[in-house]
Amino acid sequence: MREYSIAAIPADGIGPEVIAAGTTVLAALERRDGGLKFNIENFDWGSDYYKKHGVMMPADGLSRLKKFDAIYFGAVGAPDVPDHITLWGLRLPICQGFDQYANVRPTKILPGITSPLRQCGPGDLDWVIVRENSEGEYSGHGGRAHRGLPEEVGTEVAIFTRVGVTRIMRYAFRLARSRPRKFLTVVTKSNAQRHGMVMWDEIAAEVAEEFPDVTWDKMLVDAMTVRMTLNPRSLDTIVATNLHADILSDLAGALAGSLGVAPTGNIDPERRFPSMFEPIHGSAFDITGKGIANPVATFWTAAQMLDHLGEAEASARLMRAVERVTGSGILTPDVGGTATTKDVTDAVIDAIHSSN
Ligand code: ATP
Ligand code: MG
Repeated sequence: MREYSIAAIPADGIGPEVIAAGTTVLAALERRDGGLKFNIENFDWGSDYYKKHGVMMPADGLSRLKKFDAIYFGAVGAPDVPDHITLWGLRLPICQGFDQYANVRPTKILPGITSPLRQCGPGDLDWVIVRENSEGEYSGHGGRAHRGLPEEVGTEVAIFTRVGVTRIMRYAFRLARSRPRKFLTVVTKSNAQRHGMVMWDEIAAEVAEEFPDVTWDKMLVDAMTVRMTLNPRSLDTIVATNLHADILSDLAGALAGSLGVAPTGNIDPERRFPSMFEPIHGSAFDITGKGIANPVATFWTAAQMLDHLGEAEASARLMRAVERVTGSGILTPDVGGTATTKDVTDAVIDAIHSSN
């Protein structure tokens, strides 16, 4: 038996709805496979936990998660809890505590899903965006001086280290090498930002020497948004800073049809700690409890998790099932359908059982 222990943290809003759907799909994969077993433990951390205990997760949260093979995460954010508490209280401590420095975001237009780009159809926008997930613009350095006064100054310092940039660059080149096109685009803003961004460019060129079989090019982030929109087939693997990739991956998600289908893995490539897999979307309180959350992003990220665990076959089976279902028009309202979360989930489970 190939057994994996998974920590499920459904958290807020539609998180519990999509993670519940995801765990039933994992159970279907177990039944279909026969030799696969997921031991899933649920953690009730998040905004409701915060309202009871004053913290998003207990003080020993990370040490409790450490023993798991992977973390399956829903979404955080609640209308009545400030963003800095929800974000800095749960998701970011896990990403940082487990040094999940590579945030990996695959994109592809799935069958049955319409892209706002007229020229693109199913299979197009087959990209993976690698987001630096441990430093850069979101390292939290900076401050405010003369608060509230006319001479007030606010600084937001982006920190890039040679270690941090080199390791994400190596990860991106390795990933590019593993994909058929072996092509990487390195994104910066080194024309206007003359220090850390120029260092990115230099380190990219150095690391590229280690990967002579990978073709690569450089883009400025502003021009990159244009290229993604007007020349999307010219791209494959993309690496960018924490902030730039955050923005580019929202664009990628929208171009691929909906936030409801976009997955992400927060990866510790060295495998010292569990990696964490989650849909890109947030807690979506506007649709919470209505049973119409799109579970596809949460299924796709389960496929990413399976790949990470070395279960490539189960991962491919899950994605084939998802594509069969979207292709047959069983879609939630965010992607133009009338199906519920449960309709889509049941259909994916059926497709898993009837697949070969
Ligand atoms: P957060 O601050 O947590 O990111 P948000 O409201 O800014 O929350 P989302 O929660 O991602 O962002 O929601 C943005 C929009 O996309 C909402 O209208 C939401 O209903 C929709 N949406 C997000 N995820 C899904 C999903 N899985 N299925 C359907 N609609 C979704
Ligand atoms: Mg948001």
